[in-house]
Parts: sequence; C-alpha cells; structure tokens
Amino acid sequence: MIKYDYVVVGSGLFGATFACMARRQGKKCLVIDKRPHLGGNVYCERKEGINVHKYGAHIFHTSNKQVWDFVNSFTEFNRYTNSPVANYKGELYNLPFNMNTFYQMWHVRTPEEAQAKITEQKVEALQTLEGREPVNLEEQALVLVGKDIYEKLIRGYTEKQWGRSCKELPAFIIRRLPVRLVFDNNYFNDTYQGIPIGGYNKLIDGLLEGIETRINADFFENRTYWESLADRIVFTGQIDEFYDYRFGKLEYRTVRFEEETLDMPNYQGNAVVNYTEREVPYTRIIEHKHFEMFGDAVYQCPKTIISKEYSTEWKDGMEPYYPVNDGKNNALYQKYKELADKEEKVIFGGRLAEYRYYDMHQIVTKNLVFKFD
Ligand SMILES: Cc1cc2nc3c(=O)[nH]c(=O)nc-3n(C[C@H](O)[C@H](O)[C@H](O)COP(=O)(O)OP(=O)(O)OC[C@H]3O[C@@H](n4cnc5c(N)ncnc54)[C@H](O)[C@@H]3O)c2cc1C
Repeated sequence: MIKYDYVVVGSGLFGATFACMARRQGKKCLVIDKRPHLGGNVYCERKEGINVHKYGAHIFHTSNKQVWDFVNSFTEFNRYTNSPVANYKGELYNLPFNMNTFYQMWHVRTPEEAQAKITEQKVEALQTLEGREPVNLEEQALVLVGKDIYEKLIRGYTEKQWGRSCKELPAFIIRRLPVRLVFDNNYFNDTYQGIPIGGYNKLIDGLLEGIETRINADFFENRTYWESLADRIVFTGQIDEFYDYRFGKLEYRTVRFEEETLDMPNYQGNAVVNYTEREVPYTRIIEHKHFEMFGDAVYQCPKTIISKEYSTEWKDGMEPYYPVNDGKNNALYQKYKELADKEEKVIFGGRLAEYRYYDMHQIVTKNLVFKFD
C-alpha cells in the first residue's frame, strides 16, 4: 500500500517547500490540505483583476540571497517596499518611526533636533520610574520612545492587537523600538523584499509542480488511510490536534477580515494604513491592489478591494493565526513537543506544528537546509 516517501499534511509554504525539496532529492510526495485550495495562509483570491491576500497581507522579505534566488526561480518578485502609514484621529504619520514621522509629530527637521526631542521625552519617562525597571508595556514603551509616539502611534494599536490594556501587557513584548534618524519609510531592514508578480499562488504552483496534491482532505478524518500511504508523515497542522488535545488546547490570536469591493480606483493610496487610535475598532486597512500595481496601473483597474483587520481572541472554528507564546502556552507546547521528539515516522514543521511565529523566509530557509536521508 506504501506509495509515497512522504505524505505532507498541509500545503502552506512549509509543506509546499518541503515537497519541492524532497522531489529534487528524488522522493515521492503526496501533499494534502483540508482547505478547498493550496497555499495555506499565503493563498491569494483573484477578484476584479486584483490578487486579494485572503488570510492577511503577506510581504516577502529576506537578507538571505539563496532564499531570494530560490523563490524568484519560480516566479519573479516585484519591487514592492512595505511603507505603512499610521492614521491617528485623522493625522497621518509615516512608519516605521523615522525622520518623516518626527517631522510630522514635532516639525523637527534635522536628526539632531529629532534626537533632542526623543531624549527629552525619554528622560521624563525615566524620572517617573525613579530608578526601577519598567514593569509593563506602557512603561517600557515610554522609556524607549517617549510619550508622544507612545500615545499616538503605539498605545491604541497595541491594545487592539492584544485585546488588553498596555498596563496589563508584559514589558518584554517590546524590548526594542527602533527609531531611524533618516528619511526612510521602508519598514523592513532586509536586503530583499517584494511580492510575487501575479500573486503567491504562482509561487505555490511552482513549488508543487509535478507533485500530487489533494484538497478538501482533512488528515484527521482519515488518519489511518493517509498514514498507510507513506513511510513518513510531514505534519504542518496544529500539534495539539495531532495528539487529540490530550494535555489541553494551545491558544492563539486571530484576525477577522472584513472585505469590501469599492467602485473607485484608489481608496487610501497605500497598501497598509494602521489605525492607531483605540476608538476605531479595526487595526489596519489593507488595499490589496497596491501590492502589485504601481503608478498608472492603479488607475487602469477601475475598482479596488480593501480588508479591515480586527484582531480577535481565537475560539474553535476560527483560523489559528498567531501562537500566544506566554509561559502557560509554552509549557503546554513543551509537553506536546516531548511526544513529537519521540516520533520516528513524523516530522513536525511550520507555524502550527512548532507553535511558533515564523516569517516566510524562515520557513523557506528551514526546508532549504533540511537533510533528507
Ligand atoms: C495574518 C498573517 C500575516 C502574515 N504576514 C507575513 C508577512 O507579511 N511576511 C512574512 O514573511 N510572513 C508573514 N506571515 C507568516 C506566514 O504566513 C508564515 O510564515 C507561513 O505562511 C507559514 O506557513 P505554514 O506552512 O507553516 O503554515 P500555513 O500557511 O498555515 O499552512 C498550514 C496548512 O496546513 C493545513 N492543515 C492544517 N491542519 C490540517 C489537517 N488536519 N489536514 C489537512 N491540512 C491541514 C492548513 O489548511 C494550511 O493550509 C503572516 C502570518 C499571518 C497569520
């Protein structure tokens, strides 16, 4: 009955890259996914000529040339540069914090003036602490960047993201808040970034070329059958589900997307606008066309599609997006990991099976260096 070297559970970036590398080593894979499409969270839905990032905006970035060349070998990436804008009660600020932001915030024009302003506000925050360490996220942010940036650009956004007050959030969440004393709105520090021209499905199709796939196929609905097909299983789903939640359920944060098609070519002039005040219920609005359409191309496509993002506590039936790596959940994960480490037939990989947030380039790197036997 054994027909494959590997049955890969999950066709997200981990499963697809694993299968691609396995195929190059002469291994035979079957990739299954419970969703009605391949690609996991990088999947794009094409509507009105626009590639909509259905499970949240995805921007590929890396400083690893091998990874960049690898993904570009399947489909060329464009020159998209992530430069989010923050909207605080109608005031607009460039992100990440840089000279443009400081000019908009304080009308300072030189790095020296900006530094003096930041230092003045940091000193104020340190005096309030009277020599003790920051005990929560609010205090931590205040000593890192001062009250103006904290109150307008950090507090409301962070509270919406975590569903809790910054005073109740641990300080370690933001150990660093980089400030740049240059006029540079490029969010990422990496050497390479971009979006696959034609959307992420092209990348996934390239990775999975020549590999057998099945969609609408849940591993747990027919576990014995799928296990019987291969020598090894590569599992990229939820590790607690793999073990039937025997120690309890791991927790996640999730995002609810409210998508709208608008009868106008350009809604907000940028792919990403963060709403940093607490009172607006969503955290960001994504305008998908700006990931792939630049200049006149924006106006050649008469409609636009936006997604409002609402950060939400995860419950059964919702998409598990972000692991909550606090003490309680990490301890629970360790129990599952101990079982996983003893498995001879199963490889656990990706963000759900390893209960860890990974950027896409990290997922690709892991598979490029995987040692096939
Ligand atoms: C909202 C959001 C935004 C992000 N933005 C970025 C970004 O801008 N840049 C960046 O580098 N990274 C980003 N990431 C991270 C990126 O999504 C991940 O690195 C990558 O998608 C992880 O791939 P994966 O294969 O591990 O997981 P997934 O993409 O989740 O794939 C897992 C697959 O397994 C399938 N599966 C699960 N259980 C079963 C089962 N029982 N049977 C069959 N199939 C199953 C699922 O349906 C899914 O398709 C973002 C993540 C999120 C959540």
